[in-house]
Parts: sequence; structure tokens; C-alpha cells
Amino acid sequence: MNVSDSERVATVLESTDFELTPDEDSADIVLFNTCSVREKAEHKLYTRIGQVRKLQSKKKIIGVLGCVAQLEGETLFDKSPAIDFVLGTKAVGRVSKAIESVLEGQNKFCDLGEREPNYDWSVAETQKHSSFISFVPVIEGCNKFCTYCIVPFSRGREKSLAAPEIIRHVLKLCKQGVKEVHLIGQNVNSYRPKTIEGLEKFRGATPFSKLLRAVAATGIARIKFTTSFPRDFHPDIIEAINENENLCNWVHLPVQSGSNKILRLMRRGHTIENYFERIDKIKSSVRKISLTTDIIIGFPNETEADFGDSLKMVDYCQFDSSYIFKYSPRMGTPSYQLEDNVSAEEKKQRFIELEKRQKFNQHRIYESYLHKSVQVLIENKSGKNNFDLSGRTSCHKVVHFKGSANLLGKIVNVQITESKSNTLYGKIL
Ligand code: SAM
Ligand code: SF4
Repeated sequence: MNVSDSERVATVLESTDFELTPDEDSADIVLFNTCSVREKAEHKLYTRIGQVRKLQSKKKIIGVLGCVAQLEGETLFDKSPAIDFVLGTKAVGRVSKAIESVLEGQNKFCDLGEREPNYDWSVAETQKHSSFISFVPVIEGCNKFCTYCIVPFSRGREKSLAAPEIIRHVLKLCKQGVKEVHLIGQNVNSYRPKTIEGLEKFRGATPFSKLLRAVAATGIARIKFTTSFPRDFHPDIIEAINENENLCNWVHLPVQSGSNKILRLMRRGHTIENYFERIDKIKSSVRKISLTTDIIIGFPNETEADFGDSLKMVDYCQFDSSYIFKYSPRMGTPSYQLEDNVSAEEKKQRFIELEKRQKFNQHRIYESYLHKSVQVLIENKSGKNNFDLSGRTSCHKVVHFKGSANLLGKIVNVQITESKSNTLYGKIL
């Protein structure tokens, strides 16, 4: 979501005649797009501002955008006096106005306002993170209020984009030669637009599975979507994938814990049994769908037995990969009131043990691709050599192989010859 936000901010700046540079030394204005999901991410902001200030030969304008900006607002000016303006998560469309206000002499400009009703979600071709892959936001915000999570406070309530707007966006990207779209949102499968307009012709047990079928009907080569919320994960999503070749073989379904006691304390809205039912449905698909997840270890009151449930859960689910996070208390969230009573040392041990178990399973899963053929969208040159290419499979695995740079953006068949922990290697067939 942050990469997508940055692309749109850069689009606005370019259209208002600012010239973008990745070189912070020569920049007159430096913008920080921030994350506040964990404390570490928030601390990085202050470190980076310090680094920029130390390096600067002349005064630069410094702006802070994103989740930390939304949560801290004007207090950021006291925390770091070098900051000239602060723009909340929904105010990013007004970035040029913020800069102009500072240039005109306004000291310490802050805008935490709502999104403009006609906000443009598109990204200029020059500002896309890839020429072949695009993010398409379908829902923003979150209503779930998991007890540990700051997102509902930094990103506001769920708001779904109208289906015709999403479809038009995808069709335009198709015309521009984009091969893969990622429908993005904190919980894409909680998609609930104000009206069914644009989806009337499409079957589906939920608005999201109708949307998946509608996006599939645009004919774009590949569609991925992230993140899915377990409670709202209707089995019809798997039916839609089975019916449409261009819906990719990948589901990201964050479980957070294997213990029902911890899931209840987290207020996730699912039990581990509910979660396993969804996994069984995904694994019984006629397509080989890869499964990834997020897990938090060391949530308050997580005992060895609760952690043991997470180890068992990982073995049951056989995730293709997982993001493991140490619990980080976030001020303002309900769990901040609970004592952070799993020690740093225990968190470290549990992290290592869970990661080891995950890697062990992952190794076997990756090995199962050996000698098989997979379709890869070639995204990058992967080394100094023009003949080193890399891309991702429909199941979202990175594959490296040799081939000419003029194949960039093509979908090719690759036979897998070697597997490592997070990467596959192969040769073009
Ligand atoms: N909406 C998605 C969901 O419900 O699964 C996840 C969005 S959240 C920004 C991404 C991940 O960050 C979560 O799945 C969780 O594992 C992790 N996370 C969120 N708050 C956290 C916290 N306070 N400490 C550690 N990890 C956290
Ligand atoms: Fe955070 Fe829970 Fe919302 Fe995901 S669903 S963004 S974890 S509050």
C-alpha cells in the first residue's frame, strides 16, 4: 500500500512540474512516506530525518507522509523540528499544495483531511514501480480493530472503490501493456461497494468474488490480490480462481496465531478450526494454489503451549512462505493496555524456532517444483549480465534464469532446475 501511495504522490508531483530525483543529496525537497505497523518502522523515520539533515549543504524542505504523519499530526513538528509539513494518509493528493504553502513561507503546514471526492487513483507510466505490473487499490482502511493493530487508526474506516472505476483502471492498464495487476487493500475480500453497479453481470457469493470475475473478464493476463481477511474468505473465491486462468495461484491469508486463546485476545474473528477449513478448501482446489501468511509471536500472555499451537498450525498449513513478526505494542491500540509479558529473549527464541520450522516446510515445497515447468512473467534483469533475468510465477515465487533482455515483460515457460529457500532457478523452455 505504501509503494502504491508513493507512486501516486510522484504522479501528482510530476504533473505539477516538480522534477523527481532518487538522489537525496541533490534534492531540494525530501519526502518520507511512513509506516507505523511496528515501532521499529516508526523509529526509522527519525533516524532517516537525522541522516538527511546531517548531509545537507543547504536547507531542504522535509515532508512526512503516510501512517506516522496521520497518527502524530502536528506533534511531529516538536519531535523533529526539521520537518516542514505533514500530510495524512488521505491527504496525499494535495502534496503539491503542501509544498507550495511551505515555499510561500507558511511555517509548519499540516493536512490530515479527507480524500478529495474525485481523487485520481491512477499512476503515470513514468512513476510505476514496474512497466508490467501495477497495483490497483480496491478498498482502503480497515474496520476490524484487531487488538494489536494501528491500521484502523492510521488508515480510517473501510471504503470500497466503485467497481466501474476499478474495471476502467484495469482496462486502461491492459492497453498500456501491463500484464499483471495486484488488487490491493488491507482486506480485499471485505470489498463492499455502495452499489452493485458494474458487477450485475457477474456471478459471485460476495461482492469480492463478483469483482474477481469482473476483473478476470477484462482479459488482463494475470490478477493477484492481497491481503485476504480469514473471516471474510468465502470458498467462492477459490471457485472463481478455478474458473479463470488469469486469476493467479496465490492466496495470502494472515493467520497471526495457532492458539484460539491468542486469536481471541487479538480479536481476529476466526478460530484456528475456521482457518483450517479455509486452508482445506484452498488445498483441495484443482489448481495448485500457493499459500502465504503473517504470524505474530510473543503477543501478551502467549505461553509455551500457545506457541506450540502456532508450530502445529504451521505444520498443518504448509505455507509456501510466511512473514513472522515479533509483537510490537502500539500506543492507542487495545492490546497496549496488556502487559507485554513475553520477554525479548523469549520472543527471539520463538521467532527463531518458528522460522526454522517454516523454512523446513518451505524447502520441501520449493523442491517439489524441481523439473516442473512454470510460467514466469519476466520482470527484471537480475544481474550485471544482460542474460540474467528474473520474474515471478503465478504462485508468486521468484525464478531466476538466463535469457535475452528483450524478453522483459513476456510470460515464458521455465523448467525448474534448482531450488533454494526463497528462490527457484531454471531454464527457458
Ligand atoms: N489486514 C491484514 C490482516 O488482517 O491480516 C494485515 C495488514 S497488517 C498492516 C500486516 C501485518 O502486520 C499483520 O498481518 C500482522 O502480522 C503485522 N502486525 C500488525 N500489527 C502488529 C504489531 N503491533 N506487532 C507485530 N506485528 C504486527
Ligand atoms: Fe490490522 Fe486486523 Fe485490520 Fe489487518 S484486519 S489491518 S491486522 S486491524
